[in-house]
Amino acid sequence: MRELIDRLERERIFAPTELEALLACDDNYLFQRARTVRESVFGSRIYLRGLIEFTNHCKNDCYYCGLRRGNSDARRYRMTKEQILACCAGGYALGLHTFVLQGGEDPYYTDGLLADIVHGIKAAYPDCAVTLSLGERGHESLKLLREAGADRYLLRQETSNAAHYAILHPPEMSLSARQKCLWDLKQVGYQVGCGFMVGSPGQTLGHIAEDLLFIKELDPEMVGIGPFIPHASTPFAGEKPGDLRLVLNAIAILRLMKPNLLLPATTALGTIHETGYELGILAGANVVMPNLTPAEVRENYLLYDNKNRMEVGAVHRRLGAIGCEIEISKGDYFDV
Ligand code: SAH
Ligand code: SF4
Repeated sequence: MRELIDRLERERIFAPTELEALLACDDNYLFQRARTVRESVFGSRIYLRGLIEFTNHCKNDCYYCGLRRGNSDARRYRMTKEQILACCAGGYALGLHTFVLQGGEDPYYTDGLLADIVHGIKAAYPDCAVTLSLGERGHESLKLLREAGADRYLLRQETSNAAHYAILHPPEMSLSARQKCLWDLKQVGYQVGCGFMVGSPGQTLGHIAEDLLFIKELDPEMVGIGPFIPHASTPFAGEKPGDLRLVLNAIAILRLMKPNLLLPATTALGTIHETGYELGILAGANVVMPNLTPAEVRENYLLYDNKNRMEVGAVHRRLGAIGCEIEISKGDYFDV
């Protein structure tokens, strides 16, 4: 196994069967190497991105997600431009220089309204990056928002296997539409984040290997990986959550495949284990996304059950305790 890990670090690309063997690895040498590679590129610096969950309305019906339109138990909310700007002000005062606007696919936010919000944030905080995570949008819409000032876009592919995609989504959604949107994002000039859940129903190690190879091909700047966690008001309520070790292995493998990648220790990882964020960082992750969503609506942004968010103060304390420093610039991706 150690020989395989060393070869991944040296050669960076692998056959699917070798990736599957690495995903099943139980040797902590994998984490040691991933951490060493992270430190050789970024030192001990961790990047922060402030997350603003500005709407929980969604027109889609992804089977895994608590925001799906079919969930009539959800209490829905939307934030105004002023409320979003107030979140940014709070985050900026705490030293954050990236704001991630995330929400369900909510047609209430037209291109014009979103462009106005993005423009407003960039005008108030020219030294900050704006990241969008709004689901799938057409090429023209993505271009317009890029022109309004959005720098980055997060859209997980969720899986790279069409048959598995069909297990997770209703028939009106398709892997090809998802992937087209990711390629459009690159073409329009965003810094792109993709990613997937580990342990989503029907997922095999072979599917994760396919995800890793898709990521190699897309060559994004960021990859978000977290465990699937069941939500009680979805068709997957009775399914098992994703495996901690497998999430950490996937993070470490990606660090070795692409040393300069931005890899968050995700909220879902922080939810399945009480030191999930730290374990993610120690397996090679280098980004944490503290939550800036106002307390009065936050409890309604439930992608999954028992969501465990982190505030900026806790991020500083917990990362300091494992010897990390916080990077204060907006932390753009850089080539090495
Ligand atoms: N609507 C946008 C952004 C919000 S959902 C979109 O779908 O891209 C953001 C991410 O949350 C999704 O990409 C998915 O990977 C993750 N997610 C949704 N439900 C989840 C669950 N039950 N467990 C873990 N992650 C989940
Ligand atoms: Fe909507 Fe995103 Fe949830 Fe799918 S994953 S239902 S698009 S919020």
